[in-house]
Amino acid sequence: MESWQKSLSESIVSLDELTHFLPLDTESLQPVIERYPLRITRYYLNLIQKRNDPIGRQCIPDLRELDEDGLLSDPLNEGNLTVAPGLIHRYPDRVLLLISNSCPTFCRFCTRKNRIGKERGHIGRDSLKAALDYIEARPDITEVILSGGDPFLLTDDQLEEILVKLREIRHLQIIRIHTRTPVTLPDRITSNLCGMLKRYHPLYVNTQFNHPLEITPQSSRACSLLADVGIPLGNQTVLLKEVNDDPEVMKQLMQGLLTIRVRPYYLHQMDLVKGAGHFRTPIQKGMEIMARLRGHISGMATPSYVIDLPGGKGKVPFPLDHLKRVGNILYLRNDLGEIVEYLDTNGD
Ligand SMILES: *Cc1c(COP(=O)(O)O)cnc(C)c1O
Repeated sequence: MESWQKSLSESIVSLDELTHFLPLDTESLQPVIERYPLRITRYYLNLIQKRNDPIGRQCIPDLRELDEDGLLSDPLNEGNLTVAPGLIHRYPDRVLLLISNSCPTFCRFCTRKNRIGKERGHIGRDSLKAALDYIEARPDITEVILSGGDPFLLTDDQLEEILVKLREIRHLQIIRIHTRTPVTLPDRITSNLCGMLKRYHPLYVNTQFNHPLEITPQSSRACSLLADVGIPLGNQTVLLKEVNDDPEVMKQLMQGLLTIRVRPYYLHQMDLVKGAGHFRTPIQKGMEIMARLRGHISGMATPSYVIDLPGGKGKVPFPLDHLKRVGNILYLRNDLGEIVEYLDTNGD
């Protein structure tokens, strides 16, 4: 067993274990974790200073997850855009291939929280073959994004088997991997893994830092290992109420990322995820934060603020395509020119 696998096996998965570290009402929270499983790596848990601090809020179960909030269990309509098991095709030139159903730490705000951690393991042989056949048959597809769950929960060999097959597809140019392991399980980024990945360039990695407290010697080292084998690193931050909805925090985060050679890519408006409504901020908050970043910090540290529209309508950058507002409803134009309604929140 590799040391990261040992770390993973020692993650906290029950409320009884979690109460050794933090005071919790385990009885009332049990139904929460029955619906949305609990897992926190010991490394990530150690970053928590208080239950309701920016790290704690991201991973400790909360009673509000059970609120009947009128939000969606599949906010991005990925079910309908699935063209083979685990393969989501929304844009003409790129596909999302979900190769893992699990993560080292389950984020309480996850877009796929209604699914992740419930089904075990990684993509099966038949599903993978169906996905590869689909891509092979479509020369317009030039980029594959490996996501999940977390693709880096596969072993190096399992991952390499997929990369080898992807590289056999002649028209495929770019491979991108979305992983949060540098942030939640940094010892997963080993020199062996990096030595393997660099054989499959051009390969990009996007990670997800949401708070400056996540930039530690360990996560910095993980990013260095990846960057040192020539992998360009990007970051997708999710804008989260009472975690990072503050211009100063966001500035520190974005600037801190540049110092560890990670380039801020997106700032995501929270998706309309059922069970995560308490993380939503009003659009106004994101606009205010962007106004405090743009021009005030390096352009390289400034992400694009995007909303991934409900119903699989795609990502729109803000505020360029903001058409109009009627009460809490915004009318936004997507890449296809469609006008899509978006329900904003008051944030309280
Ligand atoms: C977000 C997303 C992508 C990638 O979009 P980029 O803007 O290139 O980062 C691709 N496919 C789907 C279905 C997505 O949701």
